[in-house]
Amino acid sequence: MLRVGLTGGIGSGKSTIARLLEERGAVVVDADKLAREVLEPGSDGLKEVVKAFGADVLNDDGTLNRAALAAKAFASEEARQTLNGITHPRIGALTGQRMAEAPEDAIVVHDIPLLVERDLAAAYHLVIVVYADAETRLRRLVGSRGMDENDARQRIAAQATDEQRRAVADVWLDNSGEVPDVTGLWDRLVGFEKNVRTQSYASGAPIVVPYDERWPAQARRVARRISVAAGGRHVEHIGSTAVPGLAAKDVLDFQLGVEDVETADALRDALGQAGFPYLGQYEDTARGEGDWSKRLHAGADPGRRVNLHVRVEGGAGWRWAIDFRDWLRHDAQALEEYADLKLQLSQRFAADSTAFAYGAAKDPWMETAVKRVQAYKGGQAS
Ligand code: ADP
Repeated sequence: MLRVGLTGGIGSGKSTIARLLEERGAVVVDADKLAREVLEPGSDGLKEVVKAFGADVLNDDGTLNRAALAAKAFASEEARQTLNGITHPRIGALTGQRMAEAPEDAIVVHDIPLLVERDLAAAYHLVIVVYADAETRLRRLVGSRGMDENDARQRIAAQATDEQRRAVADVWLDNSGEVPDVTGLWDRLVGFEKNVRTQSYASGAPIVVPYDERWPAQARRVARRISVAAGGRHVEHIGSTAVPGLAAKDVLDFQLGVEDVETADALRDALGQAGFPYLGQYEDTARGEGDWSKRLHAGADPGRRVNLHVRVEGGAGWRWAIDFRDWLRHDAQALEEYADLKLQLSQRFAADSTAFAYGAAKDPWMETAVKRVQAYKGGQAS
């Protein structure tokens, strides 16, 4: 099962995109709908609300009078928390239930307006943000939904900002004009779901591309997801994509720090289910004494290739990855040499898909780099 979070400001077109994905075969779980369900007549949620806020939050027919409840619940922070204390756990349980009921190979799209406000991005395999500028959203809410203009403005102002949404968006759908075509997105979700289910990783040609300014933001999102899947452990963006200005394969490298190899093995399934299937146990080329072993995982998302190196935090392999990265970040000469070397080798080994020969050919220069990295570190320490 693939868990996709779908969010965006009110009136951006979330429901419109959710419907398009549903037509393709997604199972949509609508957070607003579940929020209404937990307060339906006869529900214990509604009973709790009446107990807390009084019978005058009900209409004559026993249904909830939303305006009356809103007036009471938004009167104070305490009242708001009381209401959330009743609804949130129930909505959470119902969401979990709906997801559990979905078929094993489902692509579940959770349409959730407050994904950003509630800091839930890392719980999904992928987050889609639907965007439309505030004026367009206002026009839609007032025009097609008949909402009062002041009410619409207030709601927009109370929600997360576009910037906050952009920070969590693995996919940014601009719905300011025409409704975007979701064909490419759907293909990506289908491939991603299959890879998670079969625990396969997304592969691709080892093509070196110029440095991409979007890599740091993408890396922050993926790192957060890995860390959350691993119980909040330390994740670092490493490798060539972590060095600004350096050309690299479009594969983000991360290392996850663990206390010991037993922990690495214990985290294997959780990482796999979070979208980072296990590949195997490897020894890195030793560049000094110490522990150079790692567990390797790789990303299942065909739209964002990732290598995940699970290493004992503070061990030789862990430290080398960080020191080498930091040296390249700070030494312009080294960066240029390394970029030239990579370019030469990628041309020489263009036909070699294994990348092993490429790695071996890099070694003589890497050997000389060891001393220079040490010198750089010595300079940092003094
Ligand atoms: P949300 O679920 O994000 O609040 P909706 O999908 O309900 O937003 O869209 C809000 C309103 O705008 C609806 O009436 C919808 O039909 C309309 N709408 C959505 N996308 C577009 C678009 N690209 N162009 C014009 N109208 C749109």
